Amino acid sequence: MVLEKIGEVFKNALNKIANAIFVDKKLVDEIVKELQLALLSADVDRKLVLELSEKIKEKALDEKIKNVEKKEQLIALIHDELIKLLGSEKKELRISKGTQTKILFVGLYGNGKTTAIGKLANYYSKRGLKCCVIGLDVHRPAAPEQLEQLAERAKVTYFINKKEKKPEKIWQEFEERAKKFDVVLIDTAGRDVLNDDLISELKKINSLIKPQYSILVMAADIGQAARKQAEGFVKAIKIDGVIITRMDGTAKGGGALVACSEAKAPVLFIGTGEKLQDIETFNPEAFVSRILGMGDLSTLMEKVKTAVSEQELKKTKRVSNKFTLLDLYEQLEAMSKIGPLGKIAELIPGLGGMKLPQNMLQVHEEKLKHWRYAIQSMTQEEIENPEKIEGSRISRIAKGAGISAGEVRDLVKQYKLLKQFIGPGMKGIPSEGEMPSESDMSQLKNMGISQKKLQKLAKRFGGRIPGF
Ligand code: GDP
Ligand code: MG
Repeated sequence: MVLEKIGEVFKNALNKIANAIFVDKKLVDEIVKELQLALLSADVDRKLVLELSEKIKEKALDEKIKNVEKKEQLIALIHDELIKLLGSEKKELRISKGTQTKILFVGLYGNGKTTAIGKLANYYSKRGLKCCVIGLDVHRPAAPEQLEQLAERAKVTYFINKKEKKPEKIWQEFEERAKKFDVVLIDTAGRDVLNDDLISELKKINSLIKPQYSILVMAADIGQAARKQAEGFVKAIKIDGVIITRMDGTAKGGGALVACSEAKAPVLFIGTGEKLQDIETFNPEAFVSRILGMGDLSTLMEKVKTAVSEQELKKTKRVSNKFTLLDLYEQLEAMSKIGPLGKIAELIPGLGGMKLPQNMLQVHEEKLKHWRYAIQSMTQEEIENPEKIEGSRISRIAKGAGISAGEVRDLVKQYKLLKQFIGPGMKGIPSEGEMPSESDMSQLKNMGISQKKLQKLAKRFGGRIPGF
């Protein structure tokens, strides 16, 4: 089914959140864009898509929520909003053995009424209920024969009259005999559009038969237009629920389901093929779980909790007592909390007096952001052992972070460079061959930082270098 594709997109989005080290604007923008595309291509109403996007962004960028909790809340939000979109109001037909339940099927031409009746006759009789079908479609010439064939395949009783042209007359002919059935499925005629002619015919049939349920049958390929159609039928006669057919053949099924939810017309069943057994009960919650490919939400929540969190990564690092890219990140973060680089320079004795050119600072802040993206696109192994970041890993990280390979190389280089200055408190004391080269040193000097100053700073920060 095409909806599985949307499920795939949502699943990927939730996994991305669960596996991300940091939920930041870039990740959120990317996810929101993917979800928007999937929903719009399924013909979900634009306004609803934008509303959902706003809700996600608001939660994601709420700075009051901490990282791990944020991931949980975001996943729950996306999951719940998807269910809400599809209809939080759950409805089931109440049918029991020994009591007659009459169900009237209405809808426009060719939307799948007769087929749905055949499918449901099969569905209920398989569940031990006595079913019969009654054909009141007096407009389509071959309608009685079609119903007859379907009923025979489903092995249920059928009541048709190929000659009678008044639906009321046909009903009266079989009303008595239908009383001994648990489920009476009544086929009606459609029209090309919902016009006065159809409305008055349905009203007449409705008041004569007094069905327990009236079900509107619509094909999925009308997409979000299902909303208007459902509203039209709801206004004309009482509608208890909807069957969306042909979910197997269109990309617009999602839009049709969402549109019914908007029209407050609960979807009871979906048709997923031409065969008798191609019908499924529709329950938004179960449906969402299925298209997301998980038993329930707790599975994913579990994943969030077990995924390597920022804190856990830091713990790992401390245990291994190794200078990792996360240390670098931590320092960058600390710096960004203090303020822009210019301000930091002022706060650091010895740097305060130094005039750092304005454009250089801007370059650095841009760089920090890109490096942060790069770290977010790395595996834990790479974060802990940046020396391994070479070759195809560089391009993979660059692609994941949306930055250039050069920038990733730059980060690794900076890491290696900084590692040389890490005090004896940590492993990784530089060996002779690993000492910074002339060009490395000149690079640092270009930043306005001399080796002496760096070492001084390192002492001040407990053997660590703040930033670079
Ligand atoms: P009616 O005029 O509303 O009674 O519509 P029909 O029941 O005659 O169905 C119209 C066409 O849609 C037929 O060719 C059916 O085989 C086809 N159809 C109905 N439901 C489905 C479905 O769920 N999937 C597919 N692929 N075709 C369906
Ligand atoms: Mg029909």
